[in-house]
Amino acid sequence: MFVTLLTSTPEPERVVATAARLCYAAVDCRALAERSSTEDDRRMIARILTLGHHGVLEHAVFTFAVEGVSRALTHQLVRHRLASFAQQSQRYVNFDEGFAYETPPQIAARPELKQHFDEAMAAAARAYRKLREAGIAAEDARFVLPNAAHSRIIISMNARELRHFFRLRCCRRSQWEIRALAKSMLAQVAALAPALFHQAGPGCLAGPCPEGEMSCGEAAAVRREFAGLETGL
Ligand SMILES: Cc1cc2nc3c(=O)[nH]c(=O)nc-3n(C[C@H](O)[C@H](O)[C@H](O)COP(=O)(O)OP(=O)(O)OC[C@H]3O[C@@H](n4cnc5c(N)ncnc54)[C@H](O)[C@@H]3O)c2cc1C
Repeated sequence: MFVTLLTSTPEPERVVATAARLCYAAVDCRALAERSSTEDDRRMIARILTLGHHGVLEHAVFTFAVEGVSRALTHQLVRHRLASFAQQSQRYVNFDEGFAYETPPQIAARPELKQHFDEAMAAAARAYRKLREAGIAAEDARFVLPNAAHSRIIISMNARELRHFFRLRCCRRSQWEIRALAKSMLAQVAALAPALFHQAGPGCLAGPCPEGEMSCGEAAAVRREFAGLETGL
């Protein structure tokens, strides 16, 4: 899996803090931005996070490039409707030379199952090639490609949506691959904007586990896992 923060709103904390300050001040916008220090901005962001005034977080947008992840992951990812996506097409890109794929760790750890899995991938690649050789368009040949097939995707999310995404997808109840993606994204944005992503992560970082009966029961271990990560330290 390769995950990189391509770009973001310049000075994301300044933008969010200025938007928040605007709501409560009688002075003009330029004066608001010029007068604030990083410490002022971070204090203001802490305040709006506590108050639940989360609309202002939408002014900071972050864009990631992701590759070497399965279509199983991207299918879950694109359920997040407030994000924007551009994904490598299986219509316009063909896989005549074969496709890369993700092997779940549980399968990779057991050689007899790994062999079985690899044979299934090879059979899918053979079927794809046969269809293509028979003149079938990539958009139809792709029907034999598996969930494990690798994909590439560019994602843009604002800070409010990212915090929501981290809450759901950093949780131990989330699927392992999208959880790894979410953790990597969190580490990168928290390093850039620690105040914006303070206590971002699974729901149990900020209070009791919200999963009720479905809880993994390991909130203390999860909090240790995310200590430092969520502050960008
Ligand atoms: C552990 C786990 C298991 C899951 N299992 C399944 C499953 O078995 N089957 C399945 O289909 N999905 C499953 N999902 C996906 C889940 O149901 C959501 O579709 C996905 O997590 C996106 O979340 P969201 O809708 O909150 O986020 P987003 O689409 O990112 O939306 C963010 C927030 O905006 C608001 N919002 C967005 N659109 C609307 C709208 N149209 N109306 C009102 N409010 C809106 C909501 O408050 C929402 O929480 C699972 C997710 C997780 C984390």
